[in-house]
Amino acid sequence: MNSTTEKRIALISVHGDPSIEIGKEEAGGQNVYVREVGLALAQLGWQVDMFSRKVSPEQETIVQHTPLCRTVRLTAGPEEFVPRDNGFKYLPEFVQQLLQFQRENHITYPLVHTNYWLSSWVGMQLKAIQGSKLVHTYHSLGAVKYKAVDAVPLIATKRLAIEKQVLETAERIVATSPQEQQHMRTLVSTKGHIDVIPCGTDIRRFGSIGRQAARAELEIDQEAKVVLYVGRFDSRKGIETLVRAVNQSKFRDSHKLKLIIGGGSTPGNSDGKERDRIEAIVQELGMSHLTSLPGRLSQDILPAYYAASDVCVVPSHYEPFGLVAIEAMASGTPVVASDVGGLQFTVVPEKTGLLVPPKDVAAFNVAIDRILTNPALRDELGAAAKEHTRAKFSWDGVAEQLSELYTQLLGQSVKEPALVSK
Ligand code: UDP
Repeated sequence: MNSTTEKRIALISVHGDPSIEIGKEEAGGQNVYVREVGLALAQLGWQVDMFSRKVSPEQETIVQHTPLCRTVRLTAGPEEFVPRDNGFKYLPEFVQQLLQFQRENHITYPLVHTNYWLSSWVGMQLKAIQGSKLVHTYHSLGAVKYKAVDAVPLIATKRLAIEKQVLETAERIVATSPQEQQHMRTLVSTKGHIDVIPCGTDIRRFGSIGRQAARAELEIDQEAKVVLYVGRFDSRKGIETLVRAVNQSKFRDSHKLKLIIGGGSTPGNSDGKERDRIEAIVQELGMSHLTSLPGRLSQDILPAYYAASDVCVVPSHYEPFGLVAIEAMASGTPVVASDVGGLQFTVVPEKTGLLVPPKDVAAFNVAIDRILTNPALRDELGAAAKEHTRAKFSWDGVAEQLSELYTQLLGQSVKEPALVSK
């Protein structure tokens, strides 16, 4: 790789548009990951095109973020929101549109980095058609997800087969935690090449404001005991466990306790059902006066919410990585999280937060109250959390590791035979 023109990459995220405003529409960690990785790679001199599916005719086709980084929205299927489980049938059109975009712009991507299993199928086609090197990040593994749900969707068989195929044939799989890597090996396949490169967080944004100033900005009493949740409304996220744990807090009737459940969207969206269910539990437990549900929080206001809180709780039943935990820690706020998946990698128990068994209301209650009753412990964990996150999980550091991997892959002879597909 000698010239900058060869430092070119397509990041493919069919259903997770990197350029939509995260606080406003249905979007989670994948959107943040793709956008932040794209921007940070461009800073390192990569020409980055991030491909996503257009979900409304009003959306711009191309969004230029910085001179070297843009989002390209391809029309594949109807220009409307399609739930991910129904998206597979539009992928052949997505591939055709991407090839056409290449022809029109005289580009052939030597390297594609795909996100989520739907995009991996697109990546495998580009690898077969034009020899693009393929790097893949799962964001969620069907083999793990389907173990935890009651009703397995129709698409499950296809998803599991594709997830196995990409693991065995991609040039490299990026696991975001050693726990995710372990799941791939035990539940998907022992074949294929995996590197562990974590997700990151914006350490300039998170940690930019202190507790007092944040509480003043959000009009939260300086004496309050604030417990925070941030994330999508999805039953896998375990919000019910948190609500029931806070209901058992020793501060429950002190008028000091405040539970903030941030995230979720407007009624009518797909996550509305879980939000309604959680609100009903809050009411039934008589917690409405101490609970606020401010809706989705923009990335601009989030640093203040994290900083204003005594503890951020991540009660997920499973989490492949969990950006919220590192955002809170980068903000100097300790985390109480489920002892699962990527949270075991990011949260260091008794140093940056506390880990407890998932779904265990009593254990969450004890851990949350330990921090609420002891401001010195809170401050000690918070300070260590901030330092730990800055050292290990900055987007710049993540992009450097990815850049190194890409460079190594592009440096290999293109004549090298592709791994055999099983
Ligand atoms: N997020 C946000 N506003 C909200 C709720 C969530 O910006 O109201 C962001 C949050 O800051 C994080 C991402 O959405 O960056 C959620 O990522 P995570 O990995 O925690 O969960 P996922 O959505 O991938 O399951």
